Amino acid sequence: MNLWNPYLETLARPELAQIELSYFRNILSYAREHSDLYRDKLKDVDPDDIETVDDVKHIPLTDKNDLRKYQEMSPYPYGGILGRDMDEVTTYRQTSGTTGKPVYVPETYESWQWRVEAWCHILYMAGFRSSHRIFLPFGYNVYVAFWEAHYASEKIGCEVIPGGALDTKGRIHKIIETRSNAMANTPTYGLHIAQEAQAMGIDPKSLGIERMICAGEPMSEPTRKRLEELFGCRTFDHIGGTEPCGWAGMCEAQEGLHVIEPFFLVEILDRETLTREVEEGEMGVAVVTPLGRRSFPLIRFDTKDLVVKGTSGCACGRTSQRIREVVGRTDDLRKIRAVLFSPKSVEEVIRENFREVAEYEILVERKGTMDEIPLRIELLPNLAQDEIDCLKMSLSEKLKVKANLSFRVNVEPTGTLPRYTLKASRFKDLREVNNE
Ligand SMILES: [Zn+2]
Repeated sequence: MNLWNPYLETLARPELAQIELSYFRNILSYAREHSDLYRDKLKDVDPDDIETVDDVKHIPLTDKNDLRKYQEMSPYPYGGILGRDMDEVTTYRQTSGTTGKPVYVPETYESWQWRVEAWCHILYMAGFRSSHRIFLPFGYNVYVAFWEAHYASEKIGCEVIPGGALDTKGRIHKIIETRSNAMANTPTYGLHIAQEAQAMGIDPKSLGIERMICAGEPMSEPTRKRLEELFGCRTFDHIGGTEPCGWAGMCEAQEGLHVIEPFFLVEILDRETLTREVEEGEMGVAVVTPLGRRSFPLIRFDTKDLVVKGTSGCACGRTSQRIREVVGRTDDLRKIRAVLFSPKSVEEVIRENFREVAEYEILVERKGTMDEIPLRIELLPNLAQDEIDCLKMSLSEKLKVKANLSFRVNVEPTGTLPRYTLKASRFKDLREVNNE
């Protein structure tokens, strides 16, 4: 079998549960003793009382605001979230800060290696091997994802080509020059590279990319398939974040994501109460505890990622819990005209049916007492006016069916809408009062 860690990846479910509970108790004890955040938060919790997964549900959740608050303490910049001596920290990373002040993430050499090992699982199950020369088309800066991909690729034995400090054309030339055959990128930037290559008269298929792993944004299934078709490659998804690390990845069966067990204890809780584990096939919020990292202990972190719970077990032989689908972020869910809306529904409609749409942006505005949803789109060049009219009508109809809402489709001149490389932000709620 093609497994990175054949022992861990095929453990029977009861054994996995036992290991995870014992790791959970350990990290809980450790956090209470070594992190100011958990010294306060867990003062009434006795790790010896945790005997089953149900007992875990009584422990308080941690969210980004807790981290922001405690990192204000000494020592700068990590404060009370630090779980080791400051002198042991070897790696600084941070969140993007799109929803407020960034969270600063400390890693010791040991904890960074733990992250890298978790990412090796993600890459290996996506078929990355020593025969791959992997191109990373970004300057990674202080953000974590592509550094993890970089180090984990090396650990697996891939050859890594860092593609920072180049523009997109330069990167395409570099892929050709180095004969890179794999890539790690955001879905948005993958589509952009394909568009740019086509504009240069190069068929993206001729770049020779065999495998692609996507990071940085939720990816819809039509987008994943579109990337496969454009590059003639196999494209894999994963889910993770700066605070918890990458915690689930897609295997060759490409049916949902495998939780990387027993590196993480993952709970999928009902969105309203955050207390009940959802059933298979039901949507919930992922609450993640990294079980082996001590530099920055994190207990029951509310990721705000909405996922659909899948089965455990798979044709690939792995026994881990699966995530059927990543739906998006709870931050992005909105009630519009009493309908619950996720921006991913628009992404799915556009990528599946309207290849002429080069870029888009969804706005929500309040006009009087009514919510309106302008959808701004940019189209590929050389479309006749009747084709544009037809596309607008068809897009509105399909969106109405998919999202149960009416959109006002506006065609914008080429170059009007922002282009994204690291983290796309195509949804803006401009209403004064968020009526979520
Ligand atoms: Zn599998």
